[in-house]
Amino acid sequence: MTAPPSDRTPRGPVCLVTGGAGFIGSHFVDHLLQAEPDWRVLTVDRLTYAGSLDNLEAALEHPRHRFVRADICDAEAMAPLVGSADLLVNFAAETHVDRALAGGEVFARSDTVGAAVLLEAFRRSRPSPRRRRRFLQISTDEVYGPLARGRADEEAPLRPTNPYAASKAGADLLALAYRATHGLPVVISRGANTYGPRQHAEKMTPTFFSAALAGEALPVYGDGRQVRDWIFVEDHCRALHRVLVAGEPGAIYNIGAGNEMENRQMAERILDLAERKTGRRGRLERVADRPGHDRRYALDSSRVRALGWRPEVSLDEGLERTCRWLLERRPAAVPAGSPA
Ligand code: NAD
Repeated sequence: MTAPPSDRTPRGPVCLVTGGAGFIGSHFVDHLLQAEPDWRVLTVDRLTYAGSLDNLEAALEHPRHRFVRADICDAEAMAPLVGSADLLVNFAAETHVDRALAGGEVFARSDTVGAAVLLEAFRRSRPSPRRRRRFLQISTDEVYGPLARGRADEEAPLRPTNPYAASKAGADLLALAYRATHGLPVVISRGANTYGPRQHAEKMTPTFFSAALAGEALPVYGDGRQVRDWIFVEDHCRALHRVLVAGEPGAIYNIGAGNEMENRQMAERILDLAERKTGRRGRLERVADRPGHDRRYALDSSRVRALGWRPEVSLDEGLERTCRWLLERRPAAVPAGSPA
């Protein structure tokens, strides 16, 4: 016997997730659908080269999920979508620093102007006053720029050094300005370098994995001693969920797992893992460094930890899961008879 429709209608908030067909956004959509049984999730994505409906395979079948293809810079398209939502989480952005070095304009457009369009639509929309509203702007540790020592807390100055980081910092400042001038319930997260399944092939860890699994050279920028703070994508998403439901309006939350490592050390870890899978070992190859490549990022994440969040996935486990996902997509990387 089927239950009466009223018993099955979700009564929780509508959460609009922009950029939800990308790497972190798609994991966040999956996480919300599983963790919040009463919420409806509306994913909006322009499906640039970086976004794919394959990432939303499970969500597209889900009764509490809807997908709309749209550009966040299109104010006319965004107004009704934003108006239908109680919560908005803005992942949509151009994200690859190398592309930003080749041409920064599209970054300013999607990452900064896009955020302005969403903030303005959020300000103008008039949802039920009984609903709790939040605008979570997804930002990055790159806005702090390089740190010689110590860890950046949320009061650290913004010193972005590349067009991607500067465009993201612009969005952060706009979000804070909408909080100050219009009282919008805005929250900002600044996440560390994120890795895991579904990340676009052009990013660092998938590039290293593909080369390592193929027994080819891993291209390491410059001396490879740039330090990054690594977090597994599911840990990042769990922290974002915490910030969305428990974060203070107007506050910023750094999200890092404290896995500080030089890029060449990360490359070696990936070589070790790939060797265990394939029985052959690739090697590192030094390539010309990025201009203005930041030497070190490190976050103080005590504020988000005070909300009750802790990372749950160790670097070993996270890399193993990433590797397994890549191998499922390209099983030919493992020669027959290799150790699994
Ligand atoms: P991604 O490149 O995998 O995904 C970005 C998504 O945004 C894609 O699906 C793309 O189609 C979509 N998009 C781009 N421009 C759009 C537009 N104008 N309108 C609608 N959709 C658009 O990126 P990601 O790594 O998942 O990063 C997601 C967010 O998290 C970004 O805001 C990024 O700055 C932030 N972030 C990423 C990391 C990281 O290490 N990957 C770390 C911290 C913060």
